[in-house]
Amino acid sequence: MLKKPINALKNTFFPPICLNCGKKTTKNYLCLSCKKQIKVLRPPFCYSQIKTNNNIYEKPITALSSCNYKNPIKNLIYSFKYKHCDYLADFLSRFIVKQLKITKFKPQNYDFIVPVPLHPYKMKIRGYNQAELLAKQIAKYFQLPLKNDIITSKYVKDSQTKLSSKKRQENVKGKFIVKENFTDKNILLIDDVFTTGATISTCWQSLKEKGVDKIFIITLAKALKN
Ligand SMILES: [Zn+2]
Repeated sequence: MLKKPINALKNTFFPPICLNCGKKTTKNYLCLSCKKQIKVLRPPFCYSQIKTNNNIYEKPITALSSCNYKNPIKNLIYSFKYKHCDYLADFLSRFIVKQLKITKFKPQNYDFIVPVPLHPYKMKIRGYNQAELLAKQIAKYFQLPLKNDIITSKYVKDSQTKLSSKKRQENVKGKFIVKENFTDKNILLIDDVFTTGATISTCWQSLKEKGVDKIFIITLAKALKN
């Protein structure tokens, strides 16, 4: 009963600040004008083709993404990952849900949801895996089981951020280990940002090697080449 007046009082003394432009706002996280700038990507821009290094899988892998990786989404993802704003998972996951619904994703055809794992060292620093927090929300929405412990991430020589596309592929080779066989299972694989596709395609290959049939890849954002 008291929640509303307490919130109103809190908002008077500590008005929410837009995480993109820094202005005071009456909304959560983003002011109205920043929120309006977020556009869910449409075909063909929402799709990415990834070529794998592995000869067994000759066809390129397709990944779907929700938003263009630029502000305000870029700023929100930054806060989400590096400023401990884990509470943004609910808000950000809605763009993934929206995109999955637009593309007529059929949850009944999938067995479970898997987030791309975070390196244990980063996990220790951050305290959470942002892809897992997004996956949790998606799992809740589509009522699909979440499996967040079937893939483990091994040590990687260099940070991916400053590497070229080819170097990224080499750097993450054999990075992920899938613990058991998942013969003929269909999986929805989730990550936060799609850059070159090196991480997600390595994950994809590790799952395929354990017998997974269909893998639907979705990321929250994608860095579009201009
Ligand atoms: Zn704003």
